[in-house]
Amino acid sequence: MQPANLIAIDGPAASGKSTLAEKIARKLGYFFFDTGVMYRAVTLAALKQFNQVDDERNVTLLSEKIQIDVQSPSVDDGRLMDVLVDGKDVTWEIRTPYVDRNVSKVSAYTGVRNAMTDQQRRIGARGNMVVVGRDIGTVVFPEAKQKIYLDASPEERARRRFAEVQQRGEKTTYEEILSSIKRRDAIDSTRAMAPLKPAEDAFVINSDGKTIEQVVEEVVQLLTQESKNVG
Ligand code: C5P
Repeated sequence: MQPANLIAIDGPAASGKSTLAEKIARKLGYFFFDTGVMYRAVTLAALKQFNQVDDERNVTLLSEKIQIDVQSPSVDDGRLMDVLVDGKDVTWEIRTPYVDRNVSKVSAYTGVRNAMTDQQRRIGARGNMVVVGRDIGTVVFPEAKQKIYLDASPEERARRRFAEVQQRGEKTTYEEILSSIKRRDAIDSTRAMAPLKPAEDAFVINSDGKTIEQVVEEVVQLLTQESKNVG
């Protein structure tokens, strides 16, 4: 399939991908699609149903059954998109530390990845989208013409995530967040299927010490330059 107007943005947890993608999407009038929500939604459903996520077979069966959908935000409460599971809004429920702690395990299950990749391709077929994840440029939409890999050091990412979580009034420490980020990086980049890595044709950008505005500016310039070269 040749995806219609898709921009792939990949990178590790808390690298600023979502903020960047949302701003780029807004500039271009594209839909912002964060694929991490799909793995989070399966994790939430599994935790609700089984109280844990260790049973790969049952978690996989569940992931094949549930219908996950994303839509433009219907509520003005800071969300970047609505996330629906079987029609129910789970936008904030999938962001809890309980889901954070379990999601990398779920996303390493081959059957879950196959089911989510199918759902992502179904949604991506709508076109005009900025798609964010870990394997978008490498596996889900390798044909995407424009690919960015956004990186930052674990410490910088933990600082940003800590500030966010504090703003939401959740109790946690910087050290806890840093160790959770390092643990997720390790699982995400060493899993057998679709490990986290830049696509060969991706632009790699390191956002350490840069403001989000600087990164957006850099990416807009890259994308404009590239479409001139393609055109
Ligand atoms: O991006 P976010 O932190 O919300 O993603 C949650 C988890 O989902 C990641 O830690 C990763 O394990 C998984 N994920 C993935 N492939 C994607 C998007 C997310 O494996 N395309």
